[in-house]
Amino acid sequence: MKAADFRYERPASVADALALLGDEDRDAAPLAGGQSLMPMMNFRLAQPGTLVDLSALDELRGIKRDGEVLRIGAMTRYVELVRSDLVAECVPLLALALPHIAHAAVRNRGTIGGSVALADPAAEMPALLLALDAEITVQSPTGTKTHAATDFFLGMYDTALEEGELVTEIAIPVAAETDRFSFYELARRHGDYAMAGVAVARRDGSHRIAFFSISDRALRATGAEAVLDAGGGVQEAVAALSELPFAGDLNAGEATKQHLSGVVLTRALEAL
Ligand SMILES: Cc1cc2nc3c(=O)[nH]c(=O)nc-3n(C[C@H](O)[C@H](O)[C@H](O)COP(=O)(O)OP(=O)(O)OC[C@H]3O[C@@H](n4cnc5c(N)ncnc54)[C@H](O)[C@@H]3O)c2cc1C
Repeated sequence: MKAADFRYERPASVADALALLGDEDRDAAPLAGGQSLMPMMNFRLAQPGTLVDLSALDELRGIKRDGEVLRIGAMTRYVELVRSDLVAECVPLLALALPHIAHAAVRNRGTIGGSVALADPAAEMPALLLALDAEITVQSPTGTKTHAATDFFLGMYDTALEEGELVTEIAIPVAAETDRFSFYELARRHGDYAMAGVAVARRDGSHRIAFFSISDRALRATGAEAVLDAGGGVQEAVAALSELPFAGDLNAGEATKQHLSGVVLTRALEAL
């Protein structure tokens, strides 16, 4: 099957892109790397009237250190993150996880902003941003807003992003030398969407644990975090996962997701 007819625009500025997206007659959608949107259009799961291609917006691309924060433009591709010395140095958790996000061909086109905006419950990036206490900046014709990642991912393919807004930047605190990070996912084949996965950060004795592919969204395991913060062990932390709202998907049912969450957390904590 092929996509239904659509119009195509490639604006030269964020302001022009926002104007196109805000034009109600167009029923427009932003196009980033197209690695999720184009298949969704081909399957007719999405039928935007106009595609607003963001690829000419250099202002949305790039990785720069700004004091104790690493700022990543929404149109920065996974491959650029993989190759970035700044990412490896400032956000080692991203460097650990990036090779697990899809396959090289997808990483060549897929963008961090596209993954954040899509909020696929099986995607790694939303969970990584929760574990890293990142902030997500969005822009509309009336101004700019910044959301904590914790408040951004609301449900399956659902975020705090409002109609006509664009994700423009992701800001991640730079890791200190004493910080520790771990990442573990179980996938049928390397590069496939995971059946369950977890990202863990320990900073100043405080833990952040974020899961993906176990529920309808990426989510933190605050009960398990509290156990570890109080000096509890791995088994106790795994037991605390029972409070999470597990949900099955095409890969596995709810009970399997709960079991796998314990497996990935155990392995991630062993490697922390
Ligand atoms: C074979 C295959 C395997 C994959 N495996 C994985 C995997 O293991 N893990 C994983 O996380 N992902 C995986 N993906 C998805 C891939 O990572 C996508 O690239 C990513 O989810 C979306 O990024 P994109 O830049 O391609 O966005 P697009 O597909 O262009 O857009 C996705 C959605 O976000 C919207 N959007 C895009 N950019 C913005 C923006 N700046 N502001 C507001 N809205 C925006 C679009 O309108 C669309 O609704 C896989 C994809 C394929 C084809």
